[in-house]
Amino acid sequence: VGAKLEDYEVLGVIGTGTFGTCYKVKKKSSGHLYVWKAIKYGSMKEDKKQLLVSEVNLLSQLKHPNIVRYHDRIIHKESATLYIVMECCEGGDLSLIINKCKRTKCLVTEAFVWHVLYQTARALQACHWHHSATILHRDIKPANVFLDSSGNVKLGDFGLARVLESESGYAHTIVGTPYYMSPEVIKGSKYNRMSDIWSLGCLAYELCTSSPPFTGSNIKELARKILDGRYDRIPDYYSDDLNSFINLLLNTDQEKRPPVEDITHHPSLVSQLATNS
Ligand code: ADP
Ligand code: MG
Repeated sequence: VGAKLEDYEVLGVIGTGTFGTCYKVKKKSSGHLYVWKAIKYGSMKEDKKQLLVSEVNLLSQLKHPNIVRYHDRIIHKESATLYIVMECCEGGDLSLIINKCKRTKCLVTEAFVWHVLYQTARALQACHWHHSATILHRDIKPANVFLDSSGNVKLGDFGLARVLESESGYAHTIVGTPYYMSPEVIKGSKYNRMSDIWSLGCLAYELCTSSPPFTGSNIKELARKILDGRYDRIPDYYSDDLNSFINLLLNTDQEKRPPVEDITHHPSLVSQLATNS
């Protein structure tokens, strides 16, 4: 027998994102806290629903310390809603940190940026080279990178982007500006592992700068800037080492970006982790 809605007590809404609403919930039998994401599938076509089911199955196999842990799923037929129950990340997401930096004109420490880079890359490594399929994240952005209560980085919302994006493709483009879209995707190439690496570069850059490397008042202007590939250096407070590292990820030529296993083994990253541990 599968889990039921009644197995959980809803404690409150956390927030509504592009594809659904997240709630903090408590499992009655254990008292443990979780987050569930409610996704309405009523308007989806049959093939989309199948894709959603297979993506959620894949999600349930992703077990890694830097990936938001899937716990359970509940299908509520009456309301045509899928509830994905997952680990609750008490430390919030990186968009909160970036917004705070913006407001207070503070900078996050260099050590924190290396920490996020390393642990997010570890999460990507686990899915880019997953044994049953190549799993691409497709939506790396500050709001999908969480911190747990011990400060560990947890990447969330894996794979779902592919299903839900095409479902509400139009709404998606309008709601969120695709600041992290890679040059090759703009040029019409298939999203691939290197496109995730590009987004990781954008994420690290935005952590340092409180704004994405490429901005524009409309999609066309944004696309032009991304293809141009020029952006300001991260603040002088950050080392040349970190700056060059981010530049490596933000190479407009996808062939020249390092694959994720080169990132996690990169001498700069390894030596930073050694000094900060
Ligand atoms: P988005 O489209 O912005 O990624 P989501 O629907 O994924 O939005 O998330 C909505 C809100 O719930 C966000 O504020 C996000 O930080 C929060 N949230 C999502 N998943 C979790 C989680 N596992 N733990 C804690 N907060 C979460
Ligand atoms: Mg999300």
